[in-house]
Amino acid sequence: MANQIRPVRLPPLPTIRDLVKLYRLRAIRQLSQNFLMDENLTDKIVKAAGPLANHYVCEIGPGPGGITRSIIKRRPHKLLVVEKDPRFIPTLQLLQECCKDHTNMIIAIDDIRNYNLENAFKGAPKHNWTEAPPPIHLIGNLPFSVSTNLIIRYLQAVSEQSSAWSFGRTSMTLTFQKEVGERMVAPMMDDQRCRLSVICQMWCDVKYKFTISGRAFVPKPDVDVAVVTLIPRKYPLVNLPFKMVEKVLRNSFNMRQKYCIRGLERLFPEEHRKELGSKLLQLAEIDPTIRPFQISNEEFVRIFYAYKILCEERPDLINYDSRAPKEQLMDTLL
Ligand code: SAM
Repeated sequence: MANQIRPVRLPPLPTIRDLVKLYRLRAIRQLSQNFLMDENLTDKIVKAAGPLANHYVCEIGPGPGGITRSIIKRRPHKLLVVEKDPRFIPTLQLLQECCKDHTNMIIAIDDIRNYNLENAFKGAPKHNWTEAPPPIHLIGNLPFSVSTNLIIRYLQAVSEQSSAWSFGRTSMTLTFQKEVGERMVAPMMDDQRCRLSVICQMWCDVKYKFTISGRAFVPKPDVDVAVVTLIPRKYPLVNLPFKMVEKVLRNSFNMRQKYCIRGLERLFPEEHRKELGSKLLQLAEIDPTIRPFQISNEEFVRIFYAYKILCEERPDLINYDSRAPKEQLMDTLL
């Protein structure tokens, strides 16, 4: 069976450290480049993604190719690497050459934020949403600002079953700043519980796999790193537009330490705040004096649907936003 195929040994190659020296690939601070040189760690990240033999993989931000080596040892059928910095072309071409007998490796020099993942996986098998996930994976050790921004876009695509998720429940294995990884998995009552926790958990089964010390990277970042996997839920906890869910969560967590009613009232124009805020929580059967981090996922779902009912009664509410995000969505979710 494909799952039992053992990783292949690659032909002798210079180490990543030597290649970085040889090609003078000095890390560029503006691109937040921090390279992983330890093969045990890159193997561990790739193992977290599950079996890859004969699968389709997109690696985001391969840099000099440490994680890429660990991926190709597992013999995917196709590996697309999307890297913004063209200085890495020679080291990636070296890997492309050495895996050509078993893996079709494609190098794209591009910004992943503009990359069309539906085209990227053209030809890959499509699975129905409620079947097992398709043999498609996104793997990446990206700069933190990019990975947080990307996860929000990807969650929206998951909710719409578009892009890489038009093939089914494509899995993601990505790195985040440790604290962000902790927030993504935080259950109710947890200190780290925030909008990002709820929005990730609505659509995905999120797992905090392990922590990598900042010391493992060259140059060393100021923080430790979380490896997180996300597999879209067969049955998402909510079936409402992403933007609506995001707006309710943004208002709920706006005043984290106050009663939840305080933030949720702000979903409504000032003159109706008291009345509609109370009606919302009555409909959802939620105690208005609990704090946002004390609300479970299931209770949030009741709040989302109660809000939908109120918007159906008064369609002008849907466009009302007391605090339209001036910042990018990613900032508002942290
Ligand atoms: N994967 C390598 C590793 O683990 O050693 C490099 C990791 S480094 C933290 C992040 C990589 O992502 C860099 O190679 C950087 O050039 C690339 N990168 C940064 N922003 C990107 C973007 N928007 N699209 C694609 N690649 C990006």
